[in-house]
Amino acid sequence: MTVIPFPCIPAYRINVQEALSEPRFTVALSHDVDRVHKSFQSATHFLKYLRNGCLRQALYQLRSVTRSERYWCFDKIRRIEISRGLRSTFYFLNESYPFNPMKLESWRLALGYYDIFRPAVAGMIRQLDSEGFEIGLHGSYRSYCDRDLLQKEKRDLEAILGHSVTGIRQHYLNLSAETWMIQRDLGFLYDTSFGYRDGIGFKCGFFRPFPLDDRNDFFIVPLSMMDCCLMRQPDPWSRASELIDLAETKKALLVLNWHQQIFDEREFPGYCSMYERIIDECISRGAVFVTLGAYVAGYAALMHSPSATGRESPSL
Ligand SMILES: [Zn+2]
Repeated sequence: MTVIPFPCIPAYRINVQEALSEPRFTVALSHDVDRVHKSFQSATHFLKYLRNGCLRQALYQLRSVTRSERYWCFDKIRRIEISRGLRSTFYFLNESYPFNPMKLESWRLALGYYDIFRPAVAGMIRQLDSEGFEIGLHGSYRSYCDRDLLQKEKRDLEAILGHSVTGIRQHYLNLSAETWMIQRDLGFLYDTSFGYRDGIGFKCGFFRPFPLDDRNDFFIVPLSMMDCCLMRQPDPWSRASELIDLAETKKALLVLNWHQQIFDEREFPGYCSMYERIIDECISRGAVFVTLGAYVAGYAALMHSPSATGRESPSL
């Protein structure tokens, strides 16, 4: 897979300092990288569309059975964001769920993923990193409660990048009572798995990152809008607008997660255009854009500054 070179416009809309100087309506863009190539989805999506009576989409799935590259989409995302002076964070998955043909669940959880060491994938990780995008770990399905597994995945990604990784989002937003402790012990600075799996909004009323405890060395960044959760609403744009209104009123950090595989409009009609519409709406409302790693690092530094002594987290 060749990497398309774009003129690398500086990320002039990314302004962490401004976002941290006072409470502002702030936006962070992110992408979970679950699958980089289309595989069994031609069959499952064909059946889904057929069941729903969408014959045109069902036929498209049949015709595209050999078009595995339709899920790559990295160049499209780069073009969308770089052209607007923006950057995002990509969370790469290193899935190792064991395949057992007798267990239905494992078909979904073990098949169709990718090897992050494959030259095309590792090359894209390095390319994005060099262009000012941030790279985080998308913790595999079982890693939220498996310290050794999560450590291996972090080290693998760092070996590709040549530097440390501070951010994580768990696959399926899996969390348990010990997940954040494990992540902190392994050297992560923040987790952004705290969000709804089946809806959009600021979970438990958290509008901004908050520290795990008074050590102020690990932060939870609420995830408020995920592609599939928004697009299955009866009127996605009005729901997105409501959330943008709320984020603007509350001077919140609005974190978007648009999986990289859904940017091909033939595969996922309306997803990419909705992403661009939301971004442009936030730009028109004067939102400040940040990348999560830089933002949380700045936030942590603020919490440790002498003037912050005794101060509560701005989000609490
Ligand atoms: Zn995932």
